[in-house]
Amino acid sequence: MGRNMANNTRRIYQLDQNLTPEQRIVTFAKCSRSAEPFDKIAKELTDEKAAKFNQRYVVAFGHLSVAEHAAFNIAMEDVSILATKIIEDNRLGSFTERSTRYQVYDKNSYYKPDSIMNSKYADVYGKAGNYLFEIYEKLYPIVCEDMKKNYPKTNDNIKTYDTMIKGKTCDVVRYILPVATLTSLGMTLNARNLIYAINKMITSPLGEMQDIGNDLKKIAEKSIPTIANMIKPIKYLAETLPELQKTVSRISFNQTDIKQEPVTLVDYDVNADDKLVTALIYRFLSQSYESIKNKVSKMSQIQKEDIIDQALKNRSAMDQPLRELEHIYYTFDILMDYGAFRDIQRHRMCSQTNQLVTCDHGYEIPDKIRELGVEKKYISAMDTSREAYEKIKKDFPQEAQYIVAFAYKKRTLFTWNLRELHHFISLRSRPAGHVSYRLIANQVYDELAKVHPLLAKYINVVKIK
Ligand SMILES: Cc1cc2nc3c(=O)[nH]c(=O)nc-3n(C[C@H](O)[C@H](O)[C@H](O)COP(=O)(O)OP(=O)(O)OC[C@H]3O[C@@H](n4cnc5c(N)ncnc54)[C@H](O)[C@@H]3O)c2cc1C
Repeated sequence: MGRNMANNTRRIYQLDQNLTPEQRIVTFAKCSRSAEPFDKIAKELTDEKAAKFNQRYVVAFGHLSVAEHAAFNIAMEDVSILATKIIEDNRLGSFTERSTRYQVYDKNSYYKPDSIMNSKYADVYGKAGNYLFEIYEKLYPIVCEDMKKNYPKTNDNIKTYDTMIKGKTCDVVRYILPVATLTSLGMTLNARNLIYAINKMITSPLGEMQDIGNDLKKIAEKSIPTIANMIKPIKYLAETLPELQKTVSRISFNQTDIKQEPVTLVDYDVNADDKLVTALIYRFLSQSYESIKNKVSKMSQIQKEDIIDQALKNRSAMDQPLRELEHIYYTFDILMDYGAFRDIQRHRMCSQTNQLVTCDHGYEIPDKIRELGVEKKYISAMDTSREAYEKIKKDFPQEAQYIVAFAYKKRTLFTWNLRELHHFISLRSRPAGHVSYRLIANQVYDELAKVHPLLAKYINVVKIK
């Protein structure tokens, strides 16, 4: 019998693209209880019927997973970089934003929060923002000329020369940009995530996030009017976070911070080799995890290493390692400049807890700035950023973040699994990357290698000499 004969009822097709987002949601949702073909279900739908279904099952009953079948491509322009990071924290979304490594930013194109502009800090904020861009613009040609000298045009690089020089220059001067810099962000979210993202935005203490949330709400009300009824501030977040903050402020945490390296491995699976071997064996047996684990604990080290080796040795650079690696976790406390954070934050297969952007931890000075003797100008930009931040922070701790320059360091707590660390370390240690996150990726690798040398061996890291 031919391969297609036994399955000749199979149909695979794209849903009619003219269906409205709410009709798409209902077409797929109905297959749960109806044996009718999808296109027949879709044909019978009207806007009214779809709205009734969505109201009943998605909004009233809370069966939100079906809302994932409608997706949105949202274009955002002139949003602050601070806002993009908060938006991208919706980890089930897809994002692309303007590069700070390949684009030069316009003078004075930075976000000015209403709360600050209507306060006594308007002048401090405006002057600091203008000054940061002034220094950014002054240093650009100096660094650019130096790059041209160091990387002369040749027949081999003639086509990409200008882009390369611009990239190398931006890599140095981007440290001066404030977090308030305006940018563009393309975002693809399904309807379920869109609603959740909007609800978080309109609950945010930042006016810009509330405004973006309200703009998105208008889009949702037009495209998914029934489901948009679920848009409302999240009372739980609005009440819990300030209360927790109050409790934390009553505990005395004003001791001197323990000095740490930029990358600190704060927690990990102590028995990772055994755990991974057990997980790798698990799929081939019908026994419980516990009994396999007992057996693994009695295996020789050579046997265990052989299983790990077989699982990982044949991967090409493009292959994702087996999913069993996701059972091994690592928690890192990372102190990095905002530019590096901006890039590392984009890796979604992990848990991230962010502290506010701050000037508390000092800033980075790129070697090139020292080498060119323009350190004074650079430092004056950093001082201006910090002075404005400290003044504004007293009354506006959230909005003060906007005026912090990229060079300042911030902390984020990351819990990654071993599979994601393969991807993160290999991608972010490559020579095409910015040195600030390449260093972090290298150090994450080193910390992992110290505790799990056997597992580290299979990660494609490009070491910085
Ligand atoms: C040199 C360099 C330049 C870059 N330039 C830019 C830039 O100019 N602008 C910009 O916006 N970004 C830029 N990035 C960031 C990059 O595009 C990624 O967003 C970022 O590195 C996160 O990695 P990732 O998308 O592979 O996924 P991660 O979030 O790390 O997830 C790991 C893997 O899970 C899978 N995955 C996760 N989420 C999804 C999903 N929603 N759909 C399908 N698969 C998923 C993918 O296989 C992915 O590789 C750059 C990165 C590098 C290294």
